[in-house]
Amino acid sequence: MPRRLALVTGSSRGIGAEIAIRLAKDGYDIAVNYNKSEEQARKVIERIKDIGVKGIMIKADVSNRAQVEEMFDSIRRSIGNVDILVSNAGISYVSQIQDITQEEWRQIFSTNVEGTFNVIQCALPYMLSEKKGSIITISSMWGLRGASCESAYSASKAAIIGLSRSLASELAPSGIRVNSVAPGVIHTDMMDDFSKQTLENLAEETPLRKLGSPKDVAEIVSFLASDKSSFITGQVVGVDGGFTI
Ligand code: NAP
Repeated sequence: MPRRLALVTGSSRGIGAEIAIRLAKDGYDIAVNYNKSEEQARKVIERIKDIGVKGIMIKADVSNRAQVEEMFDSIRRSIGNVDILVSNAGISYVSQIQDITQEEWRQIFSTNVEGTFNVIQCALPYMLSEKKGSIITISSMWGLRGASCESAYSASKAAIIGLSRSLASELAPSGIRVNSVAPGVIHTDMMDDFSKQTLENLAEETPLRKLGSPKDVAEIVSFLASDKSSFITGQVVGVDGGFTI
């Protein structure tokens, strides 16, 4: 089987790093995208190369269209075209609606929503020419049910779900699948704003009575990337310990 290449945005840390490593174990060559955490991206690349596949790390702010286009050019030149796209890069922000500034609101949307749009649009010419490809977006359970004091984040994640479902319909005739993963509370740096008590409360509120790990998310991404899910598109898969039941 020809080698396939996966790009995972925001894979220097957290969920993205775990997805990149999981897909490397599945045998894909991996493009690790990072924005600020160069050292951590380097460590992820070392692990990927130890697994025995090709890896490249590329700095690009997904909200910056020119940087995203350059990233795709550099991936193409050095390692090949992107067969699997995981749009994972994202930021969160905790604030009451009356306190969030327009600039903070726009920053959430430009990273989470426009960033997802940018990478999908740049990945599509090759996928359309091949008539195949798998796109996986990382939304959130808060995009399904809304989180108090995280309205911008929840709205951005709901937008990602809308975008993914629309594209699943639009791109299905071209053989391209689009699915979204909606994690619950996953223990990563993104949770640093929450106190130990809040995290304990969130675990208590989760029917399975625990927080999730990046590995839990990586497992489902591995499945959605693979041909094992070849009849699955337009789905939003919750990885949330039953939180959204
Ligand atoms: P994290 O630990 O804070 O890591 C975020 C990653 O995104 C980092 O690799 C970061 O790269 C990258 N990133 C942020 N802004 C970027 C930009 N403008 N351009 C490129 N990369 C950028 O977060 P996480 O918990 O792993 O979350 C990953 C995804 O899962 C996010 O979309 C998040 O919304 C979603 N999610 C997380 C949870 C959770 O409980 N943790 C729950 C639901 C959904 P640098 O450090 O290199 O800048």
